[in-house]
Amino acid sequence: MLDRIRIVLIGTSHPGNIGGAARAMRNMGLADLALVAPRCDPKDRDAYSRASGALELVDGARVFDTLEAAVADCTLVVGASARSRHLPWPMVGPRALAESLPDALAPANAQAALVFGREDTGLTNAELQRCHRHVHIPTNPDFSSLNLAAAVQVLAYECRQAQLARDATPADETNQPFGVEWDNPPTSHADMERFFAHLEKTLITLEFHDPDNPRQLMARLRRLFLRAQLDSMEMNILRGILTSMDKRLVATTPTRRAGGNPSDER
Ligand code: SAH
Repeated sequence: MLDRIRIVLIGTSHPGNIGGAARAMRNMGLADLALVAPRCDPKDRDAYSRASGALELVDGARVFDTLEAAVADCTLVVGASARSRHLPWPMVGPRALAESLPDALAPANAQAALVFGREDTGLTNAELQRCHRHVHIPTNPDFSSLNLAAAVQVLAYECRQAQLARDATPADETNQPFGVEWDNPPTSHADMERFFAHLEKTLITLEFHDPDNPRQLMARLRRLFLRAQLDSMEMNILRGILTSMDKRLVATTPTRRAGGNPSDER
């Protein structure tokens, strides 16, 4: 299970934090480190000195331009967030998250990413809206933001404890994401993003969605479909429905509709 957990650091500005995260990962048996648009040199000597014996993780870290590219193959994307945001999103604590991972990672193609934000500004709303869930480390509410590498340490530790607990439990048929053997593999992040792009385009053609006045429509739809944890067959059906709608829409003369998007606020 630990080999299917990727740690993704977005826009890190202090190389020491990359080294510190690598050390925390290696201590806990994690090895897959991805850096998205780092704002420092990941091979700086501070990275190496903080990494201690985890130099290989620093050297082996893959660098991506975007979060999408770093998690394209992931079937579960979890954003680590120091504070709550305007639009509520499914939220778990570190232990509950880690305890859910052995089941979530049971399917053959399953891959998880734990995503961490910038030291100064954390994760953007757009990044948080690409996650199935958010995880918050319960801290002193008056001083809730951990050092980046310390946050990685806490979550990596919980992942390892969950793995050790699972190792001590005899495997049985409940070792599955939905408590039963599922008939289709989970959807990857890249497929979800293609679906959201298609959905948005169709909703614009339908004149249900106004890109000049988007309000929270796409964020709410993202939250809905990410919460559903779609499998690949369900994804094919939804894409098929959109394609059928697209065909009908080009076949009919566009007319301006009344009504439109009831999604409220700002
Ligand atoms: N000042 C930023 C926090 C930066 S800390 C803010 O207010 O958002 C850098 C990263 O460490 C965060 O983006 C988050 O991924 C992680 N982190 C820090 N404290 C955390 C906490 N209490 N729970 C979950 N993640 C946390």
